[in-house]
Amino acid sequence: MTEIAFIGLGNMGSGMCANLVAAGNKVRAFDLSRGAVAAMKKIGATGANSLSEAVDEADVIVTMLPAGEHVLSVYFGPDGIASQLKSSALLIDCSTISVNDARELARKANASGLDIVDAPVSGGVAAAKAGTLTFMVGGTKEAFARARPILDDMGKNVFYAGGTGNGQAAKIANNMLLAISMIGTCEAFNLAERLGLDAQTFFNISSNASGQCWSMTSYCPAPGPVPEAPSNRDYEPGFTAAMMLKDLVLAGEAATMTGAETALGDHARDIYKSLNDFGLSETDFSGIMKLLKSKP
Ligand code: NAD
Repeated sequence: MTEIAFIGLGNMGSGMCANLVAAGNKVRAFDLSRGAVAAMKKIGATGANSLSEAVDEADVIVTMLPAGEHVLSVYFGPDGIASQLKSSALLIDCSTISVNDARELARKANASGLDIVDAPVSGGVAAAKAGTLTFMVGGTKEAFARARPILDDMGKNVFYAGGTGNGQAAKIANNMLLAISMIGTCEAFNLAERLGLDAQTFFNISSNASGQCWSMTSYCPAPGPVPEAPSNRDYEPGFTAAMMLKDLVLAGEAATMTGAETALGDHARDIYKSLNDFGLSETDFSGIMKLLKSKP
């Protein structure tokens, strides 16, 4: 049976690891938090006391870590595990990191003879728990074919985006668009309300008119029209404003690197920076509504 090492058992990783266990895989779990490891032991994973113990004998290593520096350091830092891996090991990095870091990681992994895919996710904590994530995967077709059954155990949609780094490219371009559409949706609801329409009336009209978009119909930032949206729980995340800012910074860096014009993406980044500076970094990203309502 394939032995999987899962590293990074935070908000997302804990649900994803649990789904790998539930699908019948043999999983060894590690996180710097002992509590997170203990929680995975309770649901049938083997707990590891160190990175090195986690990957001992592993055929596949899944990482779900905060940022590129963590992923690079886990594999290639001073105590990195790359040198101790089986030569046939497959690395699946599901963290959101920059395209450059993903390509640097793949270059180093390939130089060590290891297969790797970048496989960032869309869907948030609820989808991680439910096993309904969308994966956007970059890497060789062979590495993608090897990763696919494992990704299928954690997600509903698995898309091949092309060569190394293309999964991360799809992720940051998608999230830049999401940020722009969310800000636009918040501004539209706030304006309509100030002009005398209640949120439900505006929703009924706009969701059937040309302003319709996912930010409105699946994640409405005004309380009421979409009961499961964070706006009905005082903007409890969901997907935090801090995470959205991180993705917009990555998009900005990628735009500078490629010379792509992203005027609205840059503006969205500045607005999310204001939301974070406003003390709402742990609020859901649809909390832009709170920022707009705070203005007299
Ligand atoms: P998190 O901070 O909840 O979890 C990260 C975990 O990594 C923590 O438990 C931390 O202890 C662990 N960790 C850090 N360094 C480690 C190391 N060296 N060894 C072992 N464990 C280590 O973050 P999250 O919300 O689970 O997000 C993880 C990634 O997924 C991020 O890149 C994020 O951008 C991306 N993402 C998050 C969401 C979301 O809604 N939270 C959605 C899509 C993508």
